[in-house]
Amino acid sequence: MITHNQSTQQSAYTDPEALAGVLAHVADLAPETDDEGNFPEEAFQLLADAGLLAITLPGQPLDNAQNHTAQLLTLLKRIGAANLAVGRVYEGHINALLLAQLFGTADQQKQWQDDVRQNHLFSVWNTQADDGIRIHELGGGRYELEGYKTFCSGANWVSRPLITGELMRQGQKAGWQMCIIPTERVDVIDADKRFWKPLGMRASASFKLNFTGIVIDENDLLGKPGNYFQQPYFSGGAIRFAAVQLGGAESLLEATRLMLRSMGRADDVFQQTRLAEMAYRLESGNLWLSQAGHNNDTWLRDGTDPAKIVAYANMTRTAIEEICLRVMHLCEKAVGARGLLRPLPFERIHRDLTMYLRQPAPDATLVDIGRWVGHQTTATHDLWT
Ligand SMILES: Cc1cc2nc3c(=O)[nH]c(=O)nc-3n(C[C@H](O)[C@H](O)[C@H](O)COP(=O)(O)OP(=O)(O)OC[C@H]3O[C@@H](n4cnc5c(N)ncnc54)[C@H](O)[C@@H]3O)c2cc1C
Repeated sequence: MITHNQSTQQSAYTDPEALAGVLAHVADLAPETDDEGNFPEEAFQLLADAGLLAITLPGQPLDNAQNHTAQLLTLLKRIGAANLAVGRVYEGHINALLLAQLFGTADQQKQWQDDVRQNHLFSVWNTQADDGIRIHELGGGRYELEGYKTFCSGANWVSRPLITGELMRQGQKAGWQMCIIPTERVDVIDADKRFWKPLGMRASASFKLNFTGIVIDENDLLGKPGNYFQQPYFSGGAIRFAAVQLGGAESLLEATRLMLRSMGRADDVFQQTRLAEMAYRLESGNLWLSQAGHNNDTWLRDGTDPAKIVAYANMTRTAIEEICLRVMHLCEKAVGARGLLRPLPFERIHRDLTMYLRQPAPDATLVDIGRWVGHQTTATHDLWT
């Protein structure tokens, strides 16, 4: 487990060399945890020691309230480039802290910020199947959970999971409620080991967990029913997973360049055209992230229609998915079959990125963009200004 000491260290984020060192170490460790049932604990200890778990807290370099979204996306991309599974779990941690800040009471925020400073790992587990979560009000400020969550990244290594479920008051549905579970205060949450047999992202430990019988307090409930789906936060967060995904594609270009140089093939004209296309596609991904981060902060500040923020986030994730798929294809052709053998990193990154690109509702996302654009009466050149 990550040690829950009070973290006193200055964040490595402000020292580019220190940050690069931490991320290089995380990347070196990646092959060691590429198994079902494994989790990159050491990598998370490194992130915790480097102050990166607390990076978005008040007064920290990427303070959530201070319009640093573009820089946060770059950090997510770089962590994804080091290890996509670490990036996935780290993104969930950052997402949970943002939701806690948006919807928590002052006392709750203080408590959860203290928890982060003691290296508690947070996450957001919303996905579920037919046997999903109900939160039954017991009375006396107590609630009992029933049901399962699927794709719980970080599983039992996460000590502050934010989960969602149907709040049940006197047997009636009262809405989709968030809660943050302090795992040391409740019974052990059982994992269904049969669920997690994935193509890639093994180290994200995205298990199916059984919450039946877990009892929590009023104080563990976050916000009001329905807050979780509040836009633009719900769909707008897609820019964060897109950033992690782009990191995977970036690491493929990095490894491709190294391999071609080591084989004396970097001057071949066909290889150069592939490198060129990988480079310009990645750079367009960087531009998407930079603009999405900038728009997110500017538009939230000036009260722009949340639907516009969501539309831009939807375009960003769609464009980055296509970029990643194309970069993977070019990479495969560039390094050939021999490049897809372990211990070279290509096959792991390829599996991880293929799996991680499967995010919620890609078809509906595209339709939403088209619907929004189709209904705007502003001139096309002003759609995104
Ligand atoms: C590595 C990894 C880690 C994850 N970690 C977490 C986590 O920590 N927390 C969390 O909450 N979730 C997590 N998820 C889940 C993730 O957020 C998505 O919910 C999940 O990946 C979507 O699964 P799917 O592709 O099978 O979805 P589906 O919704 O089944 O989509 C598959 C395809 O079907 C289409 N489709 C969708 N609905 C319909 C329909 N009604 N009719 C016809 N077609 C449809 C989609 O557009 C898509 O083309 C994780 C996923 C992965 C891969």
